[in-house]
Amino acid sequence: MKKSQPSPDNSETSSQLKDELNAFPGTIGHAFREPLIFERSRPGRSGYSFSAENVDVSLPKELRRSAAPLLPEVSEPDVVRHYTRLSQWNFSIDTNFYPLGSCTMKYNPKVNEEVANYVGFAHAHPYLPGEIAQGNLELMYQLEQALLAITGMDAITLQPAAGAHGELAGILMIKAYHEAHQSQRKKVLIPDSAHGTNPASCAMAGFKAVEIKTGKEGILTPEALNTVLDDDVAAIMLTNPNTLGIFEPHIKEICQMVHDKGGLVYCDGANLNALLGQTLIGEMGVDVLHMNLHKTFTTPHGGGGPGAGPVAVKKVLEPYLPIPRITKREKDGQPFYELSEDRPQSIGRLQSFYGNFGILVRAYTYIREMGAAGLKQVSDGAVLNANYIRKRLEGTFELPYKQDSMHEVVFSDKKQNAFGVKTMNIAKRLMDYGFHPPTVYFPLIVAGALMIEPTETESKETLDKFCDAMLQIAKEAETQPELLHEAPHNTQQKLLDEAYAVKNLKLRYRP
Ligand SMILES: *Cc1c(COP(=O)(O)O)cnc(C)c1O
Repeated sequence: MKKSQPSPDNSETSSQLKDELNAFPGTIGHAFREPLIFERSRPGRSGYSFSAENVDVSLPKELRRSAAPLLPEVSEPDVVRHYTRLSQWNFSIDTNFYPLGSCTMKYNPKVNEEVANYVGFAHAHPYLPGEIAQGNLELMYQLEQALLAITGMDAITLQPAAGAHGELAGILMIKAYHEAHQSQRKKVLIPDSAHGTNPASCAMAGFKAVEIKTGKEGILTPEALNTVLDDDVAAIMLTNPNTLGIFEPHIKEICQMVHDKGGLVYCDGANLNALLGQTLIGEMGVDVLHMNLHKTFTTPHGGGGPGAGPVAVKKVLEPYLPIPRITKREKDGQPFYELSEDRPQSIGRLQSFYGNFGILVRAYTYIREMGAAGLKQVSDGAVLNANYIRKRLEGTFELPYKQDSMHEVVFSDKKQNAFGVKTMNIAKRLMDYGFHPPTVYFPLIVAGALMIEPTETESKETLDKFCDAMLQIAKEAETQPELLHEAPHNTQQKLLDEAYAVKNLKLRYRP
């Protein structure tokens, strides 16, 4: 049969419309290409409607702008639809599997939101006098106690707003400790598998980060430590389990060696999801430890916060904890909670007020909901899920470190390189299958790394679908590599030139 001719169509709008529909087929109804809000702007259009006589324009002339600001002129529906549409393009843990290694993108239970939105929590003013904020102070106190029980540490601050902020707090305490002991130590030892925030935090606190090589096994050995350990070492910063998803088996000996030289041990506990309820980090010899509530304790993250990175310490570092600290005493036969600032050796304030309180409420809700047995199940599930993925994929993707996984597993693109396919192509193709790509090209010690962290909140069916997609992609790499080079094909936004924006910086929109 002869192909039907497209009917002639001279209307510019309609061909433009077709282009847009072709470029962005969408999945539900008409998904148009979404222009910038500035491109929707039409002179004189506005999103408010109060009359001029209700507006006080008594601002002195010299304080008024000479020209109107360059803002888009749009109606309220324009704004609402624009942002609602953009939100529908978003990928989130509420839409699908998000195996971003080292980020613990687990499901965030909705009960956390419910509780965080209680009026007494959500509307509490940070200047409320302590007497009428007892419930809020008690919640923070109880959360501190819970985190100390989980980690086996002695004292804690909830103030830091993220993991990296917690690292800085910890390193500043280590610095204060050495200064109090008349020591000018300059070095902090960091294994080459560490998160990039570790050396950055050291540098910010004025220390020199010294790299330690992890060997073939992907772990830190006492021998490797010995080559760099001396009297100028203020601390070692290590991550356990490390960013390869492997438990550091020599941790006790390493802590002992560093202590014998007068140094302290910082543990990056962002990966606590693997250890909850299984072991006490405090008993491994660690002096200071940060946790990421926004990873392990189900508070929403991604897109930059807010987060919370509490820092727990052993007795030796307690005097240096940031202020204010929450204290509990008896008053009229009742427990009474206060914020104490009277701590002469403290490193001071890390931010205004007490941290990201709403995040603390969510984490506390989660811990109370799970209980001790539930938290242990979390790490059981996280480790089981990571090992399940490892087993299903290890014959097809290169596994550079063969040990059992803890909470995550790191593959590489070595086998697919033979067909000209790289990690980035695999990651983009996964989007066609509806999954968020794993963390890529990290840790740096694995060339072409694919770092997969499933978390415990995913079912076997989801893990199987993901593994099936990965195996399918490995087949495609052999038979149709070009399919991968041009991926993604099914998403709103196709393959981007990732370097363009960097090479052609355009920070201001000019209509
Ligand atoms: C996420 C992470 C950090 C940094 O935490 P942020 O909250 O992103 O600042 C540090 N170390 C490790 C191992 C991490 O996974």
